[in-house]
Amino acid sequence: MKKPILIDGKLIAQTIKNEIKAEVSKLLDSGKRPPHLVAVLVGNDGASLSYVKSKEKQSKEVGFTSSLYKFPENITEKEFLETLDFLNNDSEVDGYIVQLPLPKHIDTKKVIAHVDPQKDVDGFHPANAGRMLLSMPSYLPATPYGIVTLIERNGIETSGKNCVVLGRSDIVGTPMAVLMSRKGMDCTVTLCHSKTQNLKEICKQADILIAAIGKPHFVTEDMVKEGATVIDVGIHRIEDNSEKGYYVTGDVDYEKVAPHCSYITPVPGGVGPMTIVSLLSNTLKAYKKEVYK
Ligand code: NAP
Repeated sequence: MKKPILIDGKLIAQTIKNEIKAEVSKLLDSGKRPPHLVAVLVGNDGASLSYVKSKEKQSKEVGFTSSLYKFPENITEKEFLETLDFLNNDSEVDGYIVQLPLPKHIDTKKVIAHVDPQKDVDGFHPANAGRMLLSMPSYLPATPYGIVTLIERNGIETSGKNCVVLGRSDIVGTPMAVLMSRKGMDCTVTLCHSKTQNLKEICKQADILIAAIGKPHFVTEDMVKEGATVIDVGIHRIEDNSEKGYYVTGDVDYEKVAPHCSYITPVPGGVGPMTIVSLLSNTLKAYKKEVYK
């Protein structure tokens, strides 16, 4: 059995950040202001806060202006939407993200639809989802965008290949299936979910298997075709006896599956680092008005 090629998301993410940083530096040299990304957070959820902090840190690393708008858990939906109006109208804000999940009394779909599509760097607004479906310029959702970039930058052949996507969430599985079937990627795509029958047999047909199911080690070696490319989107913290008290793993049983793959993403260090970088790429596009001209 051949050793698989590891898809190094950390390295590719760093390369893209360097490219963005160089572009921002040129903008500053020519006397322009830097791109400005805002993160909006409601409440005190620890995971959301650390994710937002990481976005802030990486934004600053590439030379963006980065701001955090933090609101208490009990902000009303009306007040929250008014804040978004403020961001929509601020010409010095290029893009913003609303960190999810929101408290139950705020309607998430209403909030997403309230973001100005031109500033929707998360790519969640119905206008951007529709434009993506029609292969028009749009902000692509960060995780699928990152995965497409990983595939492209590793020179993985996609044309005419069978791609199986496990999971149909709005933010990962469904847009992933759309992107892999579009002209340019040209895969024949099967989108699987909890009602799919014969899942193992379907996965075994995949030249490219993308697992976004949210169940640790769900993909086992008997589900993977010899020589397949396996992309693992899952992120799970599993408690153990280590100093940290946990280790991080994905939706794929990496140790058993990797020997059968031609390419595979590790967890951590595969898809994860690409997500924030894709958000930064979208923000630069928003600043340059590349999507909505
Ligand atoms: P999600 O919203 O929970 O969706 C999971 C999907 O998997 C659903 O479509 C569900 O089907 C399907 N599913 C669940 N059990 C199944 C089974 N036994 N057989 C077939 N399909 C099954 O999850 P998500 O937000 O897409 O996230 C998926 C994973 O990726 C999570 O571990 C998450 O933490 C991770 N993630 C990572 C990143 C990153 O940056 N690396 C970003 C986002 C998410 P139904 O639709 O039928 O319920």
